[in-house]
Amino acid sequence: MMTVRDKLNRPLRDLRISVTDRCNFRCQYCMPAEIFGPDYAFLSSDKILSFGEIERLVKIFVALGVKKVRITGGEPLLRRDLPVLIERLYQIQGVEDIALTTNGTLLKKYAQALAQAGLSRVSVSLDSLDEQRFAEMNGQRGKVVTVLEGIEKAVEAGLAVKINMVVQKGKNEQDIAEMARFFKEKQHILRFIEYMDVGNSNGWRLDDVVPKREILTQVQNFSPLHPVKPNYTGEVATRYQYEDGQGEIGVISSVTDSFCSTCSRARISAEGTLYTCLFATNGVNLRELLRSNADDAVIIERISEIWEQRVDRYSDERNEQTVQKRRNAKIEMSHIGG
Ligand code: SAM
Ligand code: SF4
Ligand code: SF4
Repeated sequence: MMTVRDKLNRPLRDLRISVTDRCNFRCQYCMPAEIFGPDYAFLSSDKILSFGEIERLVKIFVALGVKKVRITGGEPLLRRDLPVLIERLYQIQGVEDIALTTNGTLLKKYAQALAQAGLSRVSVSLDSLDEQRFAEMNGQRGKVVTVLEGIEKAVEAGLAVKINMVVQKGKNEQDIAEMARFFKEKQHILRFIEYMDVGNSNGWRLDDVVPKREILTQVQNFSPLHPVKPNYTGEVATRYQYEDGQGEIGVISSVTDSFCSTCSRARISAEGTLYTCLFATNGVNLRELLRSNADDAVIIERISEIWEQRVDRYSDERNEQTVQKRRNAKIEMSHIGG
């Protein structure tokens, strides 16, 4: 196995694969209902990578240094037979860790099968414990109680669970302390995510971001914290432990304190396009390559060339320039998978 490095000497270690562009939520910050309405043209099934194609790609990426795979979407649990894919990926030598990011609505149904298939970890997105505010944020599509049941089932199935909360000014900042208290008690790591300017449809403004330091102040007012070292290089969340020794939180501060220098993540959209940054404006169509008669060596060479040319550091640049918004056509979060 080789380790391919980009222009900033960052290895390729993590692969995020979106298995569907569809979702049963319409989170305002990701897939606003006004844009992703009944007439929205989602991908037809022939345009989406099959399990066989995903498996082949993961083997190829492992040959280039990837050790961790994260399955995302859209809502990945809407993809039929997802546990079958997990099982196939689990069999691949060199894959050390398989994780899933989900809105949790279907977790109750699938947690057991996913764990049996070899999934190790699940990140469940939950933006509020208040039913009304949660409904407002997800486009009136889902209930807190369903997500909490999903979390319970995931724990019972033996999956390691983390909770992700996107914090948006004027929407759910009042929920920060309550979420911290609730998940401290449940002994789950809660990670606060600064609202990001991904895609073009969420109308992002810098003013809508609740910065990391404000998030921390609110949590500290509830229970004091101290910073702790990352578990590994490239960890996206900065970690803080409660002074009383009862648990930890994380903050993913891609807006106010970015972390591009250690970014080892490649992303593949549901239709098989490779992106080397979450904020990429274009990617490389791997599906065509997979469906041509190119053998693995050719595809490995192509991906290796792409990674070696990589210079992406969008969030760092945004911080340096304090540019409020890049107006050209970025890829939507639901498309690239977060
Ligand atoms: N549907 C799944 C879910 O919500 O967990 C997986 C895909 S979703 C795109 C992945 C993660 O991205 C979620 O935790 C979501 O909250 C986060 N996300 C989406 N849009 C975002 C934005 N504009 N800023 C910050 N995080 C965002
Ligand atoms: Fe769906 Fe996840 Fe985007 Fe919400 S954040 S709309 S659940 S893909
Ligand atoms: Fe990685 Fe791009 Fe995010 Fe920087 S902005 S951490 S390069 S995905």
